[in-house]
Amino acid sequence: MGRLVILGGGESGVGTAILGKKEGFEVFVSDKGEIKDKYKKVLEHFEIEWESGKHTESKILNADVVMKSPGIPDKVPLVKLLLEKGVPVISEIEFASQYTGANLIGITGSNGKTTTTMLTYHLLKNEGLHVGMAGNIGDSYAKMVSEEDYDHYVLEISSFQLDGIVDFKPHIAMITNITPDHLDRYEYKFENYIASKFRIAMNQDENDYLIYDADDEVILDWLKKHPVRSKLLPFSVKRKLDEGAWLENKKIKMKLEHKTLEMNEDILALEGQHNVKNTMAASMAAMLVKVRKETIRQSIQSFQGVPHRLEKVLKINHVEYINDSKATNVNATFYALDGIKRPIVWIAGGVDKGNDYSELMPLVREKVKAVVCLGVDNSKLKDAFGNVIDLVVETFSMEEAVKVAYKIAERGDAVLLSPACASFDLFSNYEDRGDQFKNAVKKL
Ligand code: ADP
Repeated sequence: MGRLVILGGGESGVGTAILGKKEGFEVFVSDKGEIKDKYKKVLEHFEIEWESGKHTESKILNADVVMKSPGIPDKVPLVKLLLEKGVPVISEIEFASQYTGANLIGITGSNGKTTTTMLTYHLLKNEGLHVGMAGNIGDSYAKMVSEEDYDHYVLEISSFQLDGIVDFKPHIAMITNITPDHLDRYEYKFENYIASKFRIAMNQDENDYLIYDADDEVILDWLKKHPVRSKLLPFSVKRKLDEGAWLENKKIKMKLEHKTLEMNEDILALEGQHNVKNTMAASMAAMLVKVRKETIRQSIQSFQGVPHRLEKVLKINHVEYINDSKATNVNATFYALDGIKRPIVWIAGGVDKGNDYSELMPLVREKVKAVVCLGVDNSKLKDAFGNVIDLVVETFSMEEAVKVAYKIAERGDAVLLSPACASFDLFSNYEDRGDQFKNAVKKL
């Protein structure tokens, strides 16, 4: 089979190693950082050779194929060297997809991937289909392929994973939306990032489907200039469509492949316009794999959402506390501010990724009564909102931020953590930030 070298000994790397070994490759895992103990144990159990804390070039450059974990950029010297030598450098989804005959549903986009992936999985699972969920979410896809013979996979796919595909061909692809993100990995060119997202459809043909947000100008524009072969299934909350999903008289209407479905918008367990869109996308995929209408209706009523995404924590003195820690960019926060119907005490801030806050101004003017800044450097937030909102307070820990918000909020308000920034200045990740928020709220 040849030599498979894996760069990065995390979830996707170790999963790929297990699958590679099973498929008869000579496998070597190399990680420049420290491999976690739990992964070292797994590698030893499967008798897979590995190294940690270094990259030994002589053991890497002789690879027939390299699987690179999505965290490693293309521009690191070792990867450049491999590419110059003509060694294919691929991603986990490319590698693992070669070893499954399952129907693949691939979901990408700047925001909404996890929610849509989990909802799609929930719909298929409730119908009793034999379905696995993987990708950027939970267990490694490659590991699942090595262990189970699923009929369907719902895969959450980042642009970095898509950069490493060659033949990957989902039968159903989704692009939830495209807004600027991770531009540091794309030479600061938005077009490069858009092109990367559209790779999800590059191997699709006339029998495959591309589900996408038809309210997103970036997507529409790109499709006009770069047509795809897939059958197009758009969704919109702004206008009626001939085929796809749209809103009409507070009803979600869907029409595709000679099938129709109608659901009242208010049966959704999830709130917010963005979740109407996520529901449309997931439901269309479900209809394509013949999930029954009744299952779709019941499932979207029972789906409780994903932690750290507009997650309702508690109501205290008629104030609702909402954890949207996963909102690490402006677009995600836009939908949070848009979706909440109460006056908002907004906790924001962290590591700014070159944010432009102007998009939020109308919503902030209309709904936000106070901004509680939580970050090491709050100057940009203060500059942006200081003249718009009467109350802009600086805080330096989650506990302090929550206490300040508690004092400001009045009956009927919402306290919203939706940072629009990454979390690495004060927290280990967005989960840690959200958990600290929830704990601080519970202690009030
Ligand atoms: P991803 O996996 O793409 O990061 P998530 O489902 O984890 O997406 O959601 C990330 C953030 O984006 C959350 O704050 C969530 O409320 C918001 N969000 C979810 N769906 C959408 C959407 N369709 N458009 C814009 N924002 C969304």
